[in-house]
Amino acid sequence: MKFGGTSVGSPERMRALIPLIDDEERKIVVLSAMSGTTNSLVEIAGNLYSGNIDTAFGKIEELKAKYHNVVNDLYTFDGTRQIGNDIINSHFSYISGFTQGIFTKVQEKAILGQGEILSTTLFHLLLQERNIRSVLIPALSFMRIDKYGEPDIFYIEENLQRELASHKDENIIITQGYICRNAYGETDNLKRGGSDYSASLIGAAINSSEIQIWTDINGFHNNDPRYVDNTHPIRNLSFDEAAELAYFGAKILHPSTINPARERNIPVRLKNTMDPEDPGTLITGECVLMDYKAVAAKDGISVIRIRSDRMLMAYGFLRKVFEIFEAYRTPIDMITTSEISVSLTIDNSEYLPQIVKDLKELGSVDIEEQQSILCIVGDFRTERTGSAPEIFEALNTIPLKMISYGGSPHSLSLLIDTKDKISALKLLNKHLFNQ
Ligand code: ADP
Ligand code: ASP
Ligand code: MG
Repeated sequence: MKFGGTSVGSPERMRALIPLIDDEERKIVVLSAMSGTTNSLVEIAGNLYSGNIDTAFGKIEELKAKYHNVVNDLYTFDGTRQIGNDIINSHFSYISGFTQGIFTKVQEKAILGQGEILSTTLFHLLLQERNIRSVLIPALSFMRIDKYGEPDIFYIEENLQRELASHKDENIIITQGYICRNAYGETDNLKRGGSDYSASLIGAAINSSEIQIWTDINGFHNNDPRYVDNTHPIRNLSFDEAAELAYFGAKILHPSTINPARERNIPVRLKNTMDPEDPGTLITGECVLMDYKAVAAKDGISVIRIRSDRMLMAYGFLRKVFEIFEAYRTPIDMITTSEISVSLTIDNSEYLPQIVKDLKELGSVDIEEQQSILCIVGDFRTERTGSAPEIFEALNTIPLKMISYGGSPHSLSLLIDTKDKISALKLLNKHLFNQ
């Protein structure tokens, strides 16, 4: 059971979790940082990185005061409040320690992980105050990524099983989402929104009966509720559909969340902590076909167009292109080809200058940034006729830069300018879902 930032975002919300977890079933409770905390820690780290020590210090004090307020409201007894305030003081003096000395990526990641350490410690203390048995297992004792940033599945399983074996009698096991160790043993993280991924890695590692992601909305909606009104929850999604939507920008799930669950065939249930009776969304291996089920959009995309006469009738040209992306460990999202050109998109432009330099050996190269991929999930089996006209009618005022159809039986993707994204999402909501 993973509870996100809003679900642990106030003393009231933390207390409301107790009835959700306190039953006979054995469970691992994965907590995010309280909402806003990771953003504040990012700001603090950013200021320390640029040497703005005074600003960083001010923000540390501000966040610390917020946590003292949380502690004073969260607990019933003065004794527990005292322990809570001591915990806050010790964590914030650790964070303040980074205002002196060198500040690198290593220190930054240590700071970013403090939000989850605080929320789990405070919640564990709340359960102790209520005499509810639980144990807190540090994620840093089992969650690890390898030198490529990928989860080290074998290590996670071995170490989590060992930790669990030493707490056989405990029903409620609390741990942190998001944080992990890297291949060098340092504190690292699974990237923003990574607590969902922690939960599914944990669920897969213990072969749990279900992975539950508790958040602030009634499950997976058919469109992005941050930009579009009148969206509705989808009650059932297949692993493939959910994975595609999460990968292509549906913020409700970290892009990689579905993979570990799909591998072990473990159902993923999305639930609303503010409305626990609502059924939410159930994600399983089963797919109920519908013309259109949902749309999502992913920003931060760059399109790279390579044009070369050498591509004409040639074999091996694409291999040379792909090898360049492989050398820089940069995944390609979309690709379309024509007689003498190929267009592809990436979402990680860290090595873009080097990639472009190498690609120029193959032909002329043209780049466009600030693009978005729109992903429409529905019934796109290639044997079907008549699918998709509504999409193109809906978007006939929006320039479509690339189209990817036929790659997956359940999705169609389009590339558009990010400035057109919100209008495109709204138009699709109106024309595909009559809303
Ligand atoms: P948590 O802190 O629980 O991880 P997030 O803010 O990361 O919560 O994710 C939940 C939010 O995702 C929702 O409040 C909603 O604004 C946003 N969201 C974006 N796309 C979707 C979608 N398709 N369905 C549901 N929520 C979505
Ligand atoms: N606290 C982290 C973040 O804000 C992880 C998470 O919430 O999933 O990105
Ligand atoms: Mg999230």
